[in-house]
Amino acid sequence: METTSTQQNTVIKAIVLDIEGTTCPVTFVSQTLFPFARRQLSKTICSENRPSNVTAAIEEAIAEWKNDPESKSQALLLRASNQNQPTSEDIIHYFDHLIQNDRKSTALKELQGIIWEQGYAAGELQSPLYGDVVPALNAWTQQGITLAVYSSGSVKAQQLLYAHTTDGDITNRFSQWFDTRTGPKLNADSYRIISQSIGLKPASILFVSDHPRECDAAAEAGMETRFCLREGNPFSDGGDHQMIHNLGEIKL
Ligand SMILES: [Mg+2]
Repeated sequence: METTSTQQNTVIKAIVLDIEGTTCPVTFVSQTLFPFARRQLSKTICSENRPSNVTAAIEEAIAEWKNDPESKSQALLLRASNQNQPTSEDIIHYFDHLIQNDRKSTALKELQGIIWEQGYAAGELQSPLYGDVVPALNAWTQQGITLAVYSSGSVKAQQLLYAHTTDGDITNRFSQWFDTRTGPKLNADSYRIISQSIGLKPASILFVSDHPRECDAAAEAGMETRFCLREGNPFSDGGDHQMIHNLGEIKL
């Protein structure tokens, strides 16, 4: 029998896709989404009629700040006019410090999510997908393949991105969504959990990403892999993983 592109005639029943660098240019996130959130941050925090979710995120940020042991964070708090109730301006300084140092903050992530939601809803943000993405998703859907997303952005951010693409709302193509709450993307166990969640053996699942170490972790868990190389991507060497330049190259 003729061998197919998937090794050992394994039948692929599900495809798990990374987003940045795979279906959407990395620059959309780094040069559009994050700068947009930064620009809107002051306006959102200082607004007179703050929605309750913004107020809740600000309160969470203050609690995080008070418990942040890092010396620069503590120095900023000492400089705040009222350390128990920092002003909006103080909080913006703290957020800037977190952003500049690439620090993780649940409150900041929450606020960015709220700002992006507003931006998408207002039509100020639209996610650009590579031209081959929607045709490939449609073809796989017609073949009865289960489609899932695994990205480091929160599931909420993933759904917003796919609900407002240059090709319209494509969220209905995906039946499962995974973010780092499932586990780190470089950890093989995360892919084992995903495979259990989808209800298929890892060998029946194909994982596609622009990150060679993510492909390594998926392969370690037993998944099929494709390394996706797009123009402008940070990684160009996919190691042992079969390389593709667009999703249309994947033949099942
Ligand atoms: Mg990626």
